[in-house]
Amino acid sequence: MLNYGEKVLLMVSGGKDSLAMLRIIKNVAKSHASEVLAVTIDEGIQGYREDSIEISENACSILGVPHYVFGFKDFFDYTMDEIELLKDTESSCSICGILRRRTMDLIAQKLDVHVVATAHNLDDIVQTFLINLLNSDVKRLPWNLPVHHETELFNQRRIKPLAEIYEEELALYSFLNKERFQKVSCPYMHEGIRSEIRDIVNVLEKNHPGIKYSFFKSAVNVPGFMSMPEMERFRCEKCNYPTFSKKCSVCSTLDKLRNKRTKQVK
Ligand code: SF4
Repeated sequence: MLNYGEKVLLMVSGGKDSLAMLRIIKNVAKSHASEVLAVTIDEGIQGYREDSIEISENACSILGVPHYVFGFKDFFDYTMDEIELLKDTESSCSICGILRRRTMDLIAQKLDVHVVATAHNLDDIVQTFLINLLNSDVKRLPWNLPVHHETELFNQRRIKPLAEIYEEELALYSFLNKERFQKVSCPYMHEGIRSEIRDIVNVLEKNHPGIKYSFFKSAVNVPGFMSMPEMERFRCEKCNYPTFSKKCSVCSTLDKLRNKRTKQVK
């Protein structure tokens, strides 16, 4: 996932997984002569992010990793709390995910890194795989792979170093390291289907140990059998970002929110 001497940006949320990734990658970087930076994205959710920013800053300062904070507000002019009041039926998590991915790309370009690492664990990969299937959103399956190589369009490699580790094991790692991590849950987390999928998969794993790994293998192998639309052919008519259609998901989302805000003002 990492080559010698690369500049790596870690997405650190202040949760147990991202703090474990921070510790592990910082350690690996010593023998790789890699430069490690960390960033926390502030979605603008009152009572949720403040604590995690402080925890992330503290962990980075102990390990000597430069830490940055960027907010949705810096790039899109909306916080998630504002979006919550404007959105229609979409789940907060789907909007948040769309904006977070773009924020991550913009920060990676700004800081000129080679690699962006996120702390998705085995459970996250399995849940996302199933959610994409249930939503008939198969074009997103390749984005769930543990390694996404750089292309002409996306200069940074995206990696998920914890992709094969159970969430439970990361919790144990965190406990053994006496890690202080954020325990407050996002107030919007139960709107999406993810919590239900998590419960179902956990029951399946209990009854059929190892089934999460089978799901994981499918999540990794299925994209190889797909013929994907060529993203390179399309550019968003508003922001010129690579997309599968005329307008990218970020611009479509922001347009909807602006329309809603204009109507409310009238
Ligand atoms: Fe965003 Fe959903 Fe995560 Fe909250 S739970 S931070 S809304 S993705």
